Amino acid sequence: MKDIHEGTPLEQIHDPVIESYGVELFIKRDDLIHPAISGNKWRKLKYNIEEAKRQKKRKLLTFGGAYSNHIYAVAYAGKRFGFETVGIIRGEEHLPLNATLTYAKSVGMELLYMDRATFRKHDNEEIIEELKQQLGDFYLVPMGGTNRFAIPGCMEIVKEVNAVTEEYDYICSACGTGGTLAGIIVGMNNNKKVIGFPALKGADFLSDDINTLLHESEVDKAFNNWELNLDYHFGGYAKKKPELMSFIKGFQERTGVELEFIYTGKMMFGIYDLIQNGFFKRGEKVIAVHTGGLQVNH
Ligand SMILES: *Cc1c(COP(=O)(O)O)cnc(C)c1O
Repeated sequence: MKDIHEGTPLEQIHDPVIESYGVELFIKRDDLIHPAISGNKWRKLKYNIEEAKRQKKRKLLTFGGAYSNHIYAVAYAGKRFGFETVGIIRGEEHLPLNATLTYAKSVGMELLYMDRATFRKHDNEEIIEELKQQLGDFYLVPMGGTNRFAIPGCMEIVKEVNAVTEEYDYICSACGTGGTLAGIIVGMNNNKKVIGFPALKGADFLSDDINTLLHESEVDKAFNNWELNLDYHFGGYAKKKPELMSFIKGFQERTGVELEFIYTGKMMFGIYDLIQNGFFKRGEKVIAVHTGGLQVNH
């Protein structure tokens, strides 16, 4: 099995397109952690796996969409760390299975499907109880892997960056559930600035979710150095827009770094736009976290 690499490199992006603006852009290559548990999914699962072991659970159960990087990561983690896994997938089964679910199944994940209406309230106690009746005991990994055990894992992103350099102004990350951003916020401890780029449309609710998560993590501190930029959702979750796709292609050609269109492509598009419109100023240093997720490209 391929090693899981933490301590991923922090690389400077050299791109003629933004060179004249004088902003220094770096990328934290968490996409290089592992091909299956890539990026933030490993950061979020790491301490959940420890907790599941501590609780002597034999099975991990989680939820996700049919293309979910999280489902992919949990399936692999189960095989690697010796847990049975169950993935509850939003919507109906579509055959043949797509690449994500084919992979999950091939490494032993049991796939069950939940209609969209039920899925919307999947973390409701009654539904979890019913699943326990049906499947026996399990460790529940919430959707996206976001819970209080995700926080210490994502804090390590900041720790690793700071071990390389403390001379920077911003850390940026794409957001789905906001778990990764919450960990980064705690890790930054009110130093410098954090910007999250939600991949969903109308993600105003995310600020509250992040604050709740910080609260649940018993971080008794107010953090005022973060914001969400809601301008780069491109019409909503997993919407493919030509402008975004051509940006991703050009970025890869010029820098050699692959992105995907659901999260990291949108964040990087946003960062470029903010460089070009003067939000990020000459001489500032911006770090973008590559949260991985490249399995959707393959
Ligand atoms: C899941 C995922 C995210 C979103 O992370 P959250 O912690 O849910 O905000 C961002 N980028 C990639 C590549 C992901 O797979």
